[in-house]
Amino acid sequence: MTQRQLLVLATRNAGKTREILEFLRDFPVEIKNLDDFGPIPSVEEDGTTFDENAYKKASFTAKVLGLPALADDSGLEVEALGGAPGVHSARYAGPDSTDAENNARLLREMEGKTNRAAAFVCVISIAVPSGAALTYEARCEGLIAEAPGGNKGFGYDPLFYYHPLNRTFAELSAEEKNWVSHRGKALAELKEEFEKVLIWIRQHL
Ligand code: IMP
Repeated sequence: MTQRQLLVLATRNAGKTREILEFLRDFPVEIKNLDDFGPIPSVEEDGTTFDENAYKKASFTAKVLGLPALADDSGLEVEALGGAPGVHSARYAGPDSTDAENNARLLREMEGKTNRAAAFVCVISIAVPSGAALTYEARCEGLIAEAPGGNKGFGYDPLFYYHPLNRTFAELSAEEKNWVSHRGKALAELKEEFEKVLIWIRQHL
């Protein structure tokens, strides 16, 4: 029987954990998240790229727990705003800003802009305690709508118009969004290679 490999998700977000569990359920892997461990120091997400932040979270967690860890970092890049909100997506309107406040700021910044091109980006980092890591990255291109539409999803979904489906992300079912989204695509790529990832993890422990 294949030994199940323990993998820690560097998150306390139950939704994210469920989503990743679902993607990797056919593999010999046991998934835990930070809530399965005692209090551990949190890592400052102060990197200037998604890549840096994802790696920081994954490698810090792997080192602290002595176990392989997976972290993701994601956000929205808007062309006319020079890539903002980017790594500041979660707190665009201030340190404890809500989704509604972030969306309101985005609409304000986009007033009068004709170039509405934007992309959601997701980076997944898998790290082992020595610091070695694998990276998966995916993007989803769209346009910033003139007004919010739809009430599903979270974050900037109501303002992210996805042309191929002629709807905003907040108007898609979770399943539809998973097929096309930055996170869905990065996870699909990871799933595609996961057998090799498990071998890589074992070789680097
Ligand atoms: P994190 O990677 O979970 O820290 O997410 C960063 C921020 O990016 C979120 O708080 C949202 O504002 C934004 N974001 C990331 N992915 C999505 C998405 O799929 N839809 C809408 N907003 C997103």
